[in-house]
Amino acid sequence: MEFTQPQTALRQLVRDFAEAEIAPHAADWDRDHHFPTEVVRAMGDLGLFGIPFPEHYGGGGGDLTTLCIAIEELARVDHSMAITLEAGVGLGANPIYRFGSEAQKQQWLPDLCAGASLGGFGLTEPDAGSDAGGTRTTAVLDEQRAEWVLNGEKAFITNSGTDLTAFVTVTARTGPGEISSIIVPSGTPGFEVQPAYRKMGWHASDTHGLSFVDARVPESNLLGVRGRGFAQFLQILDEGRIAISALAVGCIQACLDHCLRYAQDRHAFGQPIGANQGVAFPIADLAVMAESARLVTYHAAWLHDTGRPVKQAAAIAKLHTTESAVTATRIATQIFGGAGFIDETPVARFYRDAKILEIGEGTSEIQRLVISRELGLPVR
Ligand SMILES: Cc1cc2nc3c(=O)[nH]c(=O)nc-3n(C[C@H](O)[C@H](O)[C@H](O)COP(=O)(O)OP(=O)(O)OC[C@H]3O[C@@H](n4cnc5c(N)ncnc54)[C@H](O)[C@@H]3O)c2cc1C
Repeated sequence: MEFTQPQTALRQLVRDFAEAEIAPHAADWDRDHHFPTEVVRAMGDLGLFGIPFPEHYGGGGGDLTTLCIAIEELARVDHSMAITLEAGVGLGANPIYRFGSEAQKQQWLPDLCAGASLGGFGLTEPDAGSDAGGTRTTAVLDEQRAEWVLNGEKAFITNSGTDLTAFVTVTARTGPGEISSIIVPSGTPGFEVQPAYRKMGWHASDTHGLSFVDARVPESNLLGVRGRGFAQFLQILDEGRIAISALAVGCIQACLDHCLRYAQDRHAFGQPIGANQGVAFPIADLAVMAESARLVTYHAAWLHDTGRPVKQAAAIAKLHTTESAVTATRIATQIFGGAGFIDETPVARFYRDAKILEIGEGTSEIQRLVISRELGLPVR
């Protein structure tokens, strides 16, 4: 696996930024459940939110591989900022880029690429998560006023309530057996962002429930083809799953780095704890996990960037890397002993943060379902 010179330079740039601007504050943001708007803007100034989009929309003209590098590097120090980038690009901007009209792209993409605004992706509902085709939110077209009228609820929507949030794209029933995606700008009367969830991890990432009561948006806010909203969102999730894998890679690498240092510095029974095979071998396992996670992730990204089918590879990458990440954080916490249970220790934060990786953008069970079906098994 070889990265281009610009990709290697970007990795260094993001690594330096993450070490200088995020690492020193991550524990405080985590403790205070604080979304650091200024730091997200600074990530925008670095060009991170525009990486895979064309330059004429203000993007970097890069690809998914390059985005994965940036996400991996952020995740090495803080999952919350890594998911803010992943969701901002993959779930906020990407649907507009993939399915938007030229007018919608011109309207939204320049600010999204600059990190001056964020978009949310409203698929999940209180009663429709894995089974997102069970969407109950409705959008009825008022033909006289040429407006969609939305009613319903969404649950757990990332980047939906920040000071930078400009809109949420939601799936809604627009007719019998018909699901479409619709852009709902922030501040639309009848569109309410619920108070932030108190989460087990990702404390500095922004997550809200949303409600829509007769919320009206112009008919032209339909995104893509009427009735294709669910299919469009599934396509977006294939790319998103590869980006989530990159987050998991960063998490595993961070566990490896922290454990390596700790196993040499921390002494017990008159020697570094790393002198014990019981400590050294799990660290060797972390190295194996980091290597294999990196390979499946960048292989899937390469398939995507070269125009090959990715559904299976994306599901395999997400399943493998996120389950490895959860295991890696458990190993790392154990190696840190009591310190590993104390909030300010980065591995303690990673332990809490990692679990959602097996759930968001399709649970592990859903990845196994996708993989089984792609194998041709008659599983339902
Ligand atoms: C912090 C956070 C951020 C999120 N961000 C977003 C976002 O930005 N946009 C968005 O739309 N959603 C978002 N989500 C929602 C997330 O994608 C869903 O929580 C996830 O898809 C699971 O849906 P659910 O919670 O309804 O669980 P359910 O679908 O109710 O699943 C419960 C359990 O049943 C299992 N299960 C369900 N069906 C099957 C089956 N057929 N076979 C085997 N097992 C099955 C699941 O794997 C899971 O273990 C976020 C969630 C969180 C917690």
